[in-house]
Amino acid sequence: MKKVAAVLLSMTLLLSGCGGNGGSQDTTTAAPTTAAPTTAAETTAEPAGQGAYKAGTYTASAQGNNGPVELSVTFSQDAITEIAIGKHGETTGISDGAFEKIPAAIIENQSLGVDTISGATYTSQAILDAVADCVTQAGGDAEALRAVTVEGGEEAESAVLADSEVDVLVIGGGGAGLSAALSASQNGASVILVEKLSALGGNTFRCGGAFNACDPERQKDIPMTEALSSAVEKVLAHEDVSEDHAKLKAEVQAQWDEYKASGNTMLFDTPEWHALQSIDAGDYEGNVELVRTLTTNTLDTLNWLSDNGVEWTDEVSTVVGALWNRSHQTPNNSGADIIAALEKNATESGVEIYLDSKAEELIVEDGRVAGAVITNAAGEKVTVKAKKGVIMATGGFSANVEMRVKYNKQWEDIGESLTTNNSPGATGDGIVMGEAVGANLVGMGWIQLMPLNSVSGGGISGYVNSSLYCNKEGKRFVAEDQRRDVLAEAVLAQTDKLFYIVCDQKEAELRGRTPEVLGYMVDNGLLYSGDTIAELAENMGVPADALEQTVKEFNEAVKADKPDEFGRTTWENTIETGPFYAPSFSPAVHHTMGGLEINGNAEVINTEGEVIPGFYAAGEVTGGIHGTNRVGGNAVPDALCFGKIAGVNAAGN
Ligand code: ADP
Repeated sequence: MKKVAAVLLSMTLLLSGCGGNGGSQDTTTAAPTTAAPTTAAETTAEPAGQGAYKAGTYTASAQGNNGPVELSVTFSQDAITEIAIGKHGETTGISDGAFEKIPAAIIENQSLGVDTISGATYTSQAILDAVADCVTQAGGDAEALRAVTVEGGEEAESAVLADSEVDVLVIGGGGAGLSAALSASQNGASVILVEKLSALGGNTFRCGGAFNACDPERQKDIPMTEALSSAVEKVLAHEDVSEDHAKLKAEVQAQWDEYKASGNTMLFDTPEWHALQSIDAGDYEGNVELVRTLTTNTLDTLNWLSDNGVEWTDEVSTVVGALWNRSHQTPNNSGADIIAALEKNATESGVEIYLDSKAEELIVEDGRVAGAVITNAAGEKVTVKAKKGVIMATGGFSANVEMRVKYNKQWEDIGESLTTNNSPGATGDGIVMGEAVGANLVGMGWIQLMPLNSVSGGGISGYVNSSLYCNKEGKRFVAEDQRRDVLAEAVLAQTDKLFYIVCDQKEAELRGRTPEVLGYMVDNGLLYSGDTIAELAENMGVPADALEQTVKEFNEAVKADKPDEFGRTTWENTIETGPFYAPSFSPAVHHTMGGLEINGNAEVINTEGEVIPGFYAAGEVTGGIHGTNRVGGNAVPDALCFGKIAGVNAAGN
């Protein structure tokens, strides 16, 4: 049994793609945990017992959230007596609970069957795996220790969902679900939220939390350039594809004409330009009404999040594939910041949150979605009746290879050959449940590959303003500020489907990389480095003369501030201040653009084009917003805006 989400401390993956911070931190060797001979918890199998180990200290490491977690374990002949955590790159604050509690619980219970810490699952698992390795090295039986289950420990507070009746049921505890639950609760509804994993957050937690919004205050010091003007003119020159598009284009044209006539030299942006750019980047497959709903609500939603404790930095930037300088970021460049604030406020507002609780199917009564069948944390099937509405917020299906292959119409191969950087919960459950009650599915064939999936294990930033991408030949091969599908396709055509992001010390500092973090990444081979470009090239194994020439031409292009030979229009800093760094990347399945059709009220639409009463959806489980290609930094606002809209509407139903 796991506890209700009382603690939301969890993990961020390196450069998961939404502008991730690559959050590696070198938390140096922690104080060792020694044996505490208490019997607070009850174990259900025999621990190892006398003479089970070759006494001594053994070391091992296992993959955590941000790279390997090293530790050493000391054994007497009969017991594990001490666990000392060594080097690791886990994020301070998020992983602390695992480092404090898991070693103590292992020693206390002489068991590897202890519960992982809610919200720090990967760190917990890494500790358990590394200790298991040491047990094997010491001649013990790790599998037997894993079978020693522990009950009644500090983490095993019981909160198991029973048959219930509530105003609003929210299915899924990522950004969309928490936003929906909070807004429904703030609008007077009683709310239950169920999450099938042991931690809240979903992909929203794992990503960099980049949040696109036209924001005159934060954008006021960004200069407009010739290259950016040409990007506006290009999108405005596109032929009309629908009445809605023509109307939107005419509005943007009028805004653009007015802007030019005003003599303003700072960045042009409006919610309508954001919408038009998003429609264009999705090859005109997105629903104009929904995209406009999104872009006209993003700033309000961002401010609502601020009112609910989410902090944003004062600057905006351009996350990979964002196409414009409007990506907001939290102080830690992390979606975890958003989830933590939402979870706190939702709980305080009275939302009941149940982890390890999986929705299996929707209940329909008199043509209305009236609840769902849930498998609770004890493995029992229970029903939750929802008087006002059910909000589906289960995310996408990037982690479901079968569904990817079934629906894909964009990529040559989207099966096992590609990894995903998504949460294991992204298995498309809500799409299946929705389809079973008649929901229409839209855009299912469009699946986004994130070009920036870390291969070397480290990263400096997912922001393109100062990024140089080069291949194994040391040459640039694409405009780094391009759409994600264009970037991914270009990477797939390079040697070993791999590329490097080259940056300098100045950029590393700008992205909050401390010397300790950089040192950790270099020492552990998570990226390449060199005091000169030639030295960096040598360490990367790419031709030094080619890389030197590439960097020289890049710096000239930054200074010229004009579209270059690849058509890049976004420039910021040159790459000149050593040391220089280069992590490597390859594409991974990142976002599924298709899903349940909704209208601007977040109501789900059936195959006849009618609203399904009582049924709402928000976030990645929905389709029709992003078209063929989601703009980088549009996913989090999509989840949170439509989550908020769904919550308000379901509560008012
Ligand atoms: P979004 O950005 O749309 O909120 P996320 O991936 O962030 O999407 O969150 C979706 C959440 O829904 C994940 O935490 C996932 O584990 C959860 N989930 C998926 N399927 C189910 C289900 N059947 N029952 C409960 N929760 C689910």
